[in-house]
Amino acid sequence: MSRPSSLRSDPAGAGGEPTGRVAPLSQYVLKLVSRCDLACDHCYVYEHPDQSWRRQPRMMAPETVEAVAGRIAEHAAAHRLDGVRVVLHGGEPLLAGAARLDATAAALRRAVDPVARLDLRMQSNGVLLTPAICDVLVAHDIKVGISLDGDRAANDRHRRHANGASSHRQVLRALALLRSPDYRSAYAGILCTVDVANDPIRVYEALLAEEPPHVDFLLPHANWDNPPARPDGRATPYADWLLAVHRRWLADGRPVPIRLLESLIATASGHGSRSEAVGLGPADLVVVETDGTFEQVDSLKSAFEGAAATGLDVFRHRVDDAAAHPGIAVRQTGLAGLCATCRACPVVRHCGGGLYAHRYRAGNGFDNPSVYCPDLLELVRVVTAAPAVDEPARPADSLSPDVLDDLGAGPGTAGSAEQLAAIHLALVRALLVALSDRVGSDPVAAEGWRLLVDLDDRRPEAVRAVLTHPFVRRWARRCRDGAADLSYLACVAAAAAVHARVRADLPVPVRDGLVGLPTLGAIAGRAERGVVRLATDEGDVRVGGRRVIPDAGRDGDPARADGPDGWLPVRAVGVDGHRLLLEDTDPHRDCYDVPVEPRLTGAAALGWTRQLARAVRRIDVEAPDYAAGVRTLLRAVVPLRADGTGRFRSAAAGAAFGAVAVTAVPDDATLAVLLVHEVQHLKLSAALDVCDLFDRDDTRTLTVPWRDDPRPVEGALHGVYAHLAVADVWRRRPGPVAEGHFRRYRDWTDGAIDALLDLGVLTAPGDRFVRRMRATVDGWA
Ligand code: SF4
Ligand code: SF4
Repeated sequence: MSRPSSLRSDPAGAGGEPTGRVAPLSQYVLKLVSRCDLACDHCYVYEHPDQSWRRQPRMMAPETVEAVAGRIAEHAAAHRLDGVRVVLHGGEPLLAGAARLDATAAALRRAVDPVARLDLRMQSNGVLLTPAICDVLVAHDIKVGISLDGDRAANDRHRRHANGASSHRQVLRALALLRSPDYRSAYAGILCTVDVANDPIRVYEALLAEEPPHVDFLLPHANWDNPPARPDGRATPYADWLLAVHRRWLADGRPVPIRLLESLIATASGHGSRSEAVGLGPADLVVVETDGTFEQVDSLKSAFEGAAATGLDVFRHRVDDAAAHPGIAVRQTGLAGLCATCRACPVVRHCGGGLYAHRYRAGNGFDNPSVYCPDLLELVRVVTAAPAVDEPARPADSLSPDVLDDLGAGPGTAGSAEQLAAIHLALVRALLVALSDRVGSDPVAAEGWRLLVDLDDRRPEAVRAVLTHPFVRRWARRCRDGAADLSYLACVAAAAAVHARVRADLPVPVRDGLVGLPTLGAIAGRAERGVVRLATDEGDVRVGGRRVIPDAGRDGDPARADGPDGWLPVRAVGVDGHRLLLEDTDPHRDCYDVPVEPRLTGAAALGWTRQLARAVRRIDVEAPDYAAGVRTLLRAVVPLRADGTGRFRSAAAGAAFGAVAVTAVPDDATLAVLLVHEVQHLKLSAALDVCDLFDRDDTRTLTVPWRDDPRPVEGALHGVYAHLAVADVWRRRPGPVAEGHFRRYRDWTDGAIDALLDLGVLTAPGDRFVRRMRATVDGWA
């Protein structure tokens, strides 16, 4: 069955929700020179529609270099970036000569080195490389990549001088210089543009012979208005070409890293891509032209005149202004920045929609799949060894350092919490799209899917209200793993139809005597299992032709005893605009170590809802910074059954993002602490969904102060993040008892932070996150 593709991610989802903050940029392409000594006919700078280079100064003036360097340093300091990459580019940057290059690199190092680690690079055609220039490269630790398209025949196909003369011998001379012991440290690798007219193996062998530290293959710039050549009408000539290289490369034992292939392989194991050409990682890059203007990625010049322009420059604008430019900001939004077709594509987390410039079509701009879509699909299928279609896409490969810092501090702002919620929604959508592949074998699910897709187009807010319900994600995950019933998809769709107050009529499954309607409640029937017809109109619901529930979308009265109509409405708590569900009907809520309470009586539900309202208000007052996360993320509270020991228990599950489970507690103050504690777990779970904070292959454990048994890293990280918040809440409460609690939780947090940092298992973002917690704890002193 073909996959309906209109069930789309929230356009503002996956980190794209405006938060008032700018995602920082860490990569800069500096156009040192705007002219070139070659005249390659596949050049996107000189041979494509955008001819703006003609208005640019030939070289970047020293004062422009100083201004750029200052802006980069300013931005790195403001966003506390650990490192930035600057690529000296052109045209041909070597036309600047050794002295200019020396001065440029010195200016950049002078400004940026004191603030952040500067990874200085250059991309060159190599023709003018000399020992004098190599001395400059080594002196300033500049790594240079050389463009070479293969052997002489392949390279001569495009990379010629203006008079038609070959550049091949000059490029080989440059590569020989870079291989020499004195300059080897400056050799970054080779960049090769694919031409399917060239023999892939001869090209591969020619590149390998130059002993490059890295090879990168670039697809020739093309878009839907200027599609790539497809000789003999072949469907996937570029995939075929690259896969020939791939086969040989594997047979050779991968003698050189090939960035495009390794990036795809990395995405297959859940890691981020190392290439802008594939994957969902943010493209945090800006170009600075020789006159100091900020531009978007250079390859956009292949689309249309002015495609890369931003109207901003380094003299009048900060890098933050460039980062906020819509054309640059959209490149940082992962899945949400892609067209509907790509978002619904089973290989999107590997492919990422391909290079941005390759998506262009006059009329709808970049809201398309790549013009290389068939090739990318085939390439991904083979290189990643056919990923399972039921794997959910990761909506973004990482959270920005700003958001991680914000969360690591403890409470986190509402903006960061909104990003986590958007990521959660994008994951649920990806799961549903993956599940939709199977609805062909389940007529009940198929009807539900059709309704859901239709509602998603007409009433997306109603669909969102249901998809953000914590237990929809849990059901979808269980369903993916074969542990839950696909036909429940019809219940999800029916609930969305009630929210939308539209007319719908569809079959829904009965399980354990109930028809579950997520976010709304459940309908008890006579049969234990089966399928009944459910009709809804203006929010009223009929089951099996009988009118059962008027206005099912209205919140249930907590005090109302369940009547003979079989309607078990979910009870909601309204707390100053925040709607919190007391969840005791959802069939997928039993995901905690402690058993959940069955349906509560009216009196018990009234007690719970009143206490929850008081606890949330208490958090507002005594820990308003934590209230932002609670109010943004907490959607449902599940009553847990007391175990008879008198211990209060609370729990959160990553699979049920947005829900917290608790046993009954005697006072609001205790409940407030438990809610803050568990919402911390929700935040960390959501962050771990898209950001590797530690090496998951490292199975070492560590001892933490609050447990006798050694803990895995993930468990320790969760514990320390939750205890940080608990300590912080007790810190604000008066009296010696609170003081004692604060000290205990602070000491636990303190000790576990040290243990985590000492173990050496954290990734760079993880290290940053934990050090931010350390700063908060140290601040209490
Ligand atoms: S060397 Fe690079 S910049 Fe120069 S013409 Fe060729 S592709 Fe264009
Ligand atoms: S393979 Fe095609 S549809 Fe899928 S993500 Fe890539 S460009 Fe988009």
